[in-house]
Amino acid sequence: MGAFAARFVALDATTVLSGGLIRWDARGRIVSLRRAPAGTRLADVCVLPALVNAHAHLQLPALAATAPTRTFVAWIHSVLQARQATSAAAERQLLRAAIADQLHLGVNAVGDIDSTGTSAEELRHSPLRGRCYRELTGFHLDERAARALLQERDGERVRGRPLAMQGGWSPHAPYSVSAALFRAAAARGRHLAIHCAEVPEEQQLLHSGRGAFADLLRELGRLPADHRAPNLGAVRWLEHLGVLSARTSLIHCQELERGDSARIAASGASIVVCPGTIEYFGRAAPPVPAWLAQGIPVALGTDSRASNTTLSMPAELARASRLWPGLAPETLFAMATRHGARAVGCRGLGQLRIGGRADFCTVPAAATFREALAAWVAGATAVAAVHVAGRRLPTVKAGSRR
Ligand SMILES: [Zn+2]
Repeated sequence: MGAFAARFVALDATTVLSGGLIRWDARGRIVSLRRAPAGTRLADVCVLPALVNAHAHLQLPALAATAPTRTFVAWIHSVLQARQATSAAAERQLLRAAIADQLHLGVNAVGDIDSTGTSAEELRHSPLRGRCYRELTGFHLDERAARALLQERDGERVRGRPLAMQGGWSPHAPYSVSAALFRAAAARGRHLAIHCAEVPEEQQLLHSGRGAFADLLRELGRLPADHRAPNLGAVRWLEHLGVLSARTSLIHCQELERGDSARIAASGASIVVCPGTIEYFGRAAPPVPAWLAQGIPVALGTDSRASNTTLSMPAELARASRLWPGLAPETLFAMATRHGARAVGCRGLGQLRIGGRADFCTVPAAATFREALAAWVAGATAVAAVHVAGRRLPTVKAGSRR
């Protein structure tokens, strides 16, 4: 049981109690959210709902500083090498550190991509929520092989089912997943996370069957001899395969073609953008304001250490406010909370509500809530404290985190 009274208590990006009081029960469930009675001592902070990191690969290691290039296909090579060089024990270490970081940075839910099955095992010991998507790759897999892969992965899920998290599939990307594997994943009716239209070479492979990805797949022995390009862009290809739906989140969407955003909006799918990755590869900012205006829930994610300096949602918010300066602080905050919850298919997250877990962070107050939120979103102020199920996390020494 506990309570916290503050100058401002934000239930979500736009519903704010001035002089608010939040109370929770012994299990850390919120039992009341209301104006504080007159005379209550108010902490000089804003209470914000915990953030949702809608796309991450918590287990991936950073690349060596000497990794030669930020050209995408060469980068993929480096990631594959780094993964091979990471022992199971090192991967667990990375996961534990990343999970602790998420919590201390004010995140209580993640859309995590699990390439090895280890994330699910580690996440089950943490209070983090959201969805753990088991990654699927195989550009060469036919129907039978695709079904066999899903069956094998299903077995894993039963063994390592996370307690607080939902499960899902992540058929990795149109350049690494066959039509049969996409169809098999979609047929199970689970939530999907798909890297989509990330680079021009992906669209080239889908349109012509040629280019850097065709070379890479050939090199990996994964380009079937009888492969024919569908001659559709990534979004139309996914639509054709029946994987675009309200249960799908599309990651990146840097290279959409004419009409694609309308297709995404009509399907109810979400888009997750990762500002750190955009910066890492020196990419142009995609048209997030236009997507939002079309009604697409656009969420934010950190992606992995391999294409980002930290796995920090506050840092992503600050980057997002620079990439899309026309977006209001409330909109950016919604991208880091409610839209993230929608993207990972866990709608109760990203807000403070009666019956929800008392997961919140505090940031410095200002004359108005909007002023305080704008300063924090832009990176001018930092998270002061984090509560999970009502319990305040021990303060972490100032370091790379903000
Ligand atoms: Zn990713």
